[in-house]
Amino acid sequence: MGGIKALYPGSFDPVTYGHIDVIRRAAKMFDEVTVCVLYNKAKKTSLFSVDERVKMLRDVTRDIPNVSVDSYYGLLIDYAEKVGAHVSIRGLRAVTDFEYELQIAQTNRLLSHGKLDTVFLTTSMEYAYLSSSAVKEIATFGGDISPCVPPSIEKMVVEKYRTKGKKDKT
Ligand code: ADP
Repeated sequence: MGGIKALYPGSFDPVTYGHIDVIRRAAKMFDEVTVCVLYNKAKKTSLFSVDERVKMLRDVTRDIPNVSVDSYYGLLIDYAEKVGAHVSIRGLRAVTDFEYELQIAQTNRLLSHGKLDTVFLTTSMEYAYLSSSAVKEIATFGGDISPCVPPSIEKMVVEKYRTKGKKDKT
């Protein structure tokens, strides 16, 4: 099959409305979009396992036919080569994202010898403030995360903190 295949890599711990917005917009631009949960060494403590994150992403993207979800332990450029993708999608929320994102994009282009390029989508204004870490911060203290994540994800986050809270107390 021809067509342009794009990857949307990230941690998605957990997926937010901001991510979903980027996925929907990317799905209109590219023939196929694979959301790829990467094992992130820099972020040592994740709330959800990679498998849980994959399941959550599948759940919230099931109505978009050209979107699939996968996970990979390794470098994005190796995954891209394996599946034959030449585009990586990343989201930009604010200037603060820029330096970090620019560095990853340049590195991926260099390491892949120009085969993997990055396309940036700027956030929709209503999600500009949204991040997975904000969701976790709010949920830790029992705040309302319903403006940030779909109901199925909210349920899982609340449940996770409930069981974690129990464990932390013992
Ligand atoms: P990573 O750990 O790789 O930064 P994240 O799951 O935090 O992964 O984010 C994946 C991508 O989605 C990043 O490019 C990030 O900038 C983007 N992103 C996160 N939240 C939003 C949002 N609210 N609007 C637009 N893009 C976002």
